Amino acid sequence: MHSPTLLILATILMGIMTMMLMAAWRFNRQIAGFGLWASSYFFGTLFCVSLLVRTATPEVWSVITAQSLLFLMAYLNLRGTRAYVGLPQSWPGYAALAALLLIAASAYFTAIQPDPGMRFALSSLMAGVIFLLCAKTVAKGKVQEYPARYLYAMACGCHGAFLLIRPWLFSLGKSGLFDAAQAIAVSQFVMVESIAAIVLMAFGIVMLANEQVTLELRAIAERDPLTGVFNRRSFLTLLDKSISHSDRMASPLSIMLIDLDHFKKINDTWGHKSGDEALRHFVAVAVPCIRNGDIIGRVGGEEFAILLPDTDITKAATVAERLRCEVAARPVKNEHGSITLTVSIGVTHYRKDEAPEVTLHRADNAMYTAKDKGRNQVEVTPDLNNTGQFEPPENAIESDQQGEACEAKSAVA
Ligand code: GH3
Ligand code: MG
Ligand code: MG
Repeated sequence: MHSPTLLILATILMGIMTMMLMAAWRFNRQIAGFGLWASSYFFGTLFCVSLLVRTATPEVWSVITAQSLLFLMAYLNLRGTRAYVGLPQSWPGYAALAALLLIAASAYFTAIQPDPGMRFALSSLMAGVIFLLCAKTVAKGKVQEYPARYLYAMACGCHGAFLLIRPWLFSLGKSGLFDAAQAIAVSQFVMVESIAAIVLMAFGIVMLANEQVTLELRAIAERDPLTGVFNRRSFLTLLDKSISHSDRMASPLSIMLIDLDHFKKINDTWGHKSGDEALRHFVAVAVPCIRNGDIIGRVGGEEFAILLPDTDITKAATVAERLRCEVAARPVKNEHGSITLTVSIGVTHYRKDEAPEVTLHRADNAMYTAKDKGRNQVEVTPDLNNTGQFEPPENAIESDQQGEACEAKSAVA
């Protein structure tokens, strides 16, 4: 049905791509799914070889072998894609059933009621659906953040869609739409599409691996390994960016500097491991207290800073008070029992044309004033109500319970 030269070309390309993926996998074993993708290409190569030698084997065996290899190639691609995006792999039962049905139907349409068109339609349908599932699985997250995922989804999706229309294309030919020369051109076009898909998807897989490595390296460079929030350097970069945004849009920008109170005591009493747990616990409590666009960073050992874009100082002070209450109300629970944690927070806002260090310094001073005033409190500068200490408005704390818990813990501190 198709030109043998193109089939030989496809086999050689499949073999080369398999070797390329195997070699890349050898050095990137930590990338989930990579090994499965390389195996998928390996079975794809065997599938092409089985097509090349099919005249040398009894027909029913060559059909069963080719259909099984094609299924393995598509299915392993889907498993690789699911592994890559972190989805569970617990459904081989369905896959085994689908493979058995496909093989049984192929054997039936070879030995009992020979119908090559039906076999072709079945295998195209199976592979088409699986490649469309691969595309759907990998197209997750923001395009700007994961461009390779969308490129791969496009390659898989287009190939899957083409596989689905392939039987229909050939049935048009059979119904006399094409003359003999056109029918050959159609079958060659189908081979050329497969060759393009083999190359595009293999490069897509390499790009996915590269994207993951790049994201991991960026996370290592930008994030604090203990708590997962931005480290000091990237926080300062983001502060610069937020200041530019605030200048451009004439929007308010507030900043909080947070220091854990008597943190050394936690280390000294319960050990460094408990100290680390307390730092992670603080982040777990703080993140739900802030908005999506707010930026939290660890700027020192037990010091954190939060940037609140488009937020004026009054609102920032309210958020700080809520955070202080939440931290005090939720002790760290570990094998030593319940460890109460409190924080002192300095709040300020960016003033147009001042250097970032000046804003930070003001927040730092406010935080030290909060320490001097007895810790477990929020200090706002410039002063909101001429008392220095922030008095939350009646409705600032979302639940009364939080307020009560807060009072109780203040007494402990
Ligand atoms: P204050 O209320 O005045 O802030 O007292 P403090 O004890 O919190 O402050 P101090 O600066 O005296 O101590 C900070 C401690 O934080 C000392 C340091 O060993 C500890 N620390 C800094 N980084 C880490 C870390 O990554 N893990 C742990 N467990 N401790 C850390
Ligand atoms: Mg400190
Ligand atoms: Mg401290």
